[in-house]
Amino acid sequence: MKIPALMYHDVVERGQADASGFPGGAAAHYKLDVAEFDTHLEALAASGSRFAAVTDTFVAAAGNGLLTFDDGGASAVAVAAALTRRGMIGHFLITTARIGQQGFVSAADVVALHSAGHVVGSHSHTHPAEISRLSMAELEREWQQSVDILSALLGAPVTVASVPGGFYSRQVAQAAAAAGIRYLLTSEPTVRTQVVDGCLILGRYTLWRGMPAQRALDLALGSGVARQHQWLAWNLKKLLKRWARPLYRWVRRTLLERSRPSAGN
Ligand SMILES: [Zn+2]
Repeated sequence: MKIPALMYHDVVERGQADASGFPGGAAAHYKLDVAEFDTHLEALAASGSRFAAVTDTFVAAAGNGLLTFDDGGASAVAVAAALTRRGMIGHFLITTARIGQQGFVSAADVVALHSAGHVVGSHSHTHPAEISRLSMAELEREWQQSVDILSALLGAPVTVASVPGGFYSRQVAQAAAAAGIRYLLTSEPTVRTQVVDGCLILGRYTLWRGMPAQRALDLALGSGVARQHQWLAWNLKKLLKRWARPLYRWVRRTLLERSRPSAGN
């Protein structure tokens, strides 16, 4: 099954990046301006694609896609309204420990998103810096606590989640599945899906500030080389991450420590 999913974060007024979601420059990189996001939605709406809920059985049919919004920033409310106006369904993945905090959705917002027909899911409870490094027990707590809070608010089961920071691992998926998650969104730029413990794992293409609407369209429809570019960049980064740490340890062990006079024990 191949499903194209787009990953957005907050949508903010120009120069107001900290008004919604996590503060700081690194997070701001992923926040689109309101006007910019509007051009994306216009292009996507005009594409003829249907943007439905992942739980919808015909989402996998050709030409359909998913629109997802990570973090649970306060801008989710306005984003949802913009989607509703165009007959699109959004997936809002909420960092539950942040509900009600400055810059994030309130409990009432979460309920309103769900009532308006959008999909509310978990983005973990605390958004750990590197979730894949947590123990299995910690992972299960992150997902379970988050799912419990959301399902209590909505009065409905919560079956959708996204992995914070894109730090996916099989254990992250297993813990999510144990918490009742049936659809787990990663940051792997791919349309390919896989199943882990009964949970469907879906990749996503990332949209960030300054990307033209045409890029969103290309990523959603698979036109042009946009998908290949993201795939290549992502896998190069993964490769570097995998080798950088062992390489650093090796350099320290073989070169730096050897050159230290006291190292000869
Ligand atoms: Zn996040």
